[in-house]
Amino acid sequence: MQVYKFGGASIATAERMQALWPIVESAEQPIVIVASALGKTTNALENVVAAACKGDKKQAQDIVAGLEQQHIGYAKTLLDEKHFAEAEKGLNVFFTELQWAIDDASADRYDYCYDQIVCIGELMSTRIFACFLQQQGFNAEWQDIRDIIRTDDTYRDARVDEEYTEAQVKQKLMPMLGSGKSIVTQGFIGATSDNASTTLGREGSDYTAALLGAMIQANGVTIWKDVEGLKNADPKKFPNTVRIEAISYHEVIEMAYYGAQVVHPKTIKPLQNNKIPLYIKCFLNKDLKGTVVMEDVSSLFYPPLIVQKSNQVLLKLTAKDFSFITESKLRDLYDVFHRLNIKVNLIQNAAISFLACIDQHEGKLKALVAELSKDYSVFDNEDVSLLTIRHYTPEVLNDLTKGRHIILEQKTKHTVQVVLM
Ligand code: ASP
Ligand code: MG
Repeated sequence: MQVYKFGGASIATAERMQALWPIVESAEQPIVIVASALGKTTNALENVVAAACKGDKKQAQDIVAGLEQQHIGYAKTLLDEKHFAEAEKGLNVFFTELQWAIDDASADRYDYCYDQIVCIGELMSTRIFACFLQQQGFNAEWQDIRDIIRTDDTYRDARVDEEYTEAQVKQKLMPMLGSGKSIVTQGFIGATSDNASTTLGREGSDYTAALLGAMIQANGVTIWKDVEGLKNADPKKFPNTVRIEAISYHEVIEMAYYGAQVVHPKTIKPLQNNKIPLYIKCFLNKDLKGTVVMEDVSSLFYPPLIVQKSNQVLLKLTAKDFSFITESKLRDLYDVFHRLNIKVNLIQNAAISFLACIDQHEGKLKALVAELSKDYSVFDNEDVSLLTIRHYTPEVLNDLTKGRHIILEQKTKHTVQVVLM
């Protein structure tokens, strides 16, 4: 069995979805298909959340009207009358669910409202996808993954209850797969024990695919992207990137941790634990080799793996009473980061000062500075970026930092990290 994950770009238009048919058709069946929302739907739904929560229901409705039109038009282009009717019935249920969520939206429950609204993107896209595959004569069924993936109520970054979820997979998905039926379902979303919808963090569909892959004991999980495979750096930011043919789970975890947008950071662990290979392939040309991520590629030589993270803030804290920043103070500092759910990407501490490079996040930074200012003088350097190079060479480091102002640099044998202005 295989899991195929299709991201938003691969199904951005009806023509794109149509072009996926040879990929699905030639897969060994049954398969589990995990899909994202169509194109940039998630971004549009984020705008709906913002409008609805600040009380501008009119603006929210306007965006939704556009989305409805887009999805209906998409389905009409792709589907014959019978399958369109089927898809429309499904879509209408989600349009209603969306209306309720908008009516219910309020700023004081922003993250909760976010999940109730944003989850609709995946529900709509997969409904159309399932109808399309059925129209092609493919033996597949649509599945609401919220009935399978149980999470806690950390809205926008929900943690999966793996034990409960695995039991649901065994009980509900395995019999379908066992009878030869493929499954079309949503990435990125889940539900709490109270049936509130949740999301797993932006780009979370990869993670869903990996989780399901592990739970059905798939032979492989394939992420279909618009690139020829994994590159040693983001080709949109760096010239002369090279494709990596094979790479270890470990390297990919490191790259994702440092901010490479290759796969969702949580994707690798379930696969690694079950030794399931991850293939990154190009939906524009399924015959390209792509990249395989697997356990043992120790014989391979890696090029420098480059990750640049923008939108960073470098915080400098100095104890107001000039006391040392001891272990217990560090513990308290980390406790603040943890409580405010702020990811610390790099730290450095000295006797009475502490530096931390964190993601820029409106709102969170304000709360953080307010909290820390009780005991520390806080300086923040906004709009810096964090460059990480695994398997660096001095030449590459030089080249990539030329003409930039380096504020902080940390080196280990394999990795160098610099904070740049
Ligand atoms: N649609 C969601 C997003 O854009 C999840 C995903 O694509 O993986 O973040
Ligand atoms: Mg996506």
